[in-house]
Amino acid sequence: MKKRLVIITIILFICLLIVVWLHGKYTGSEAARSKTVKKIDHKISTIENSAADEQKQTSAKNYVCPKHPSVIQSQHGKCPRCGETLIPSED
Ligand SMILES: [Zn+2]
Repeated sequence: MKKRLVIITIILFICLLIVVWLHGKYTGSEAARSKTVKKIDHKISTIENSAADEQKQTSAKNYVCPKHPSVIQSQHGKCPRCGETLIPSED
């Protein structure tokens, strides 16, 4: 009779632990989810910003020779005429 009571108590205790664990897990995942959403939002805005910056850089930057303004290249390098390092031009 006493043994049964102990077993029932243990089962109840385990049930209580499971309920507490599930509750903690649920609220924990909820908090983690909102955190993750915030992180993703932040990441997206960062990616958008960097993409916009990259676009600005690629669209704005041509490389010209300081000695030959007619030499314009889209990539950084050296002037094919004099070998001078090309400098970025704003237009
Ligand atoms: Zn040159």
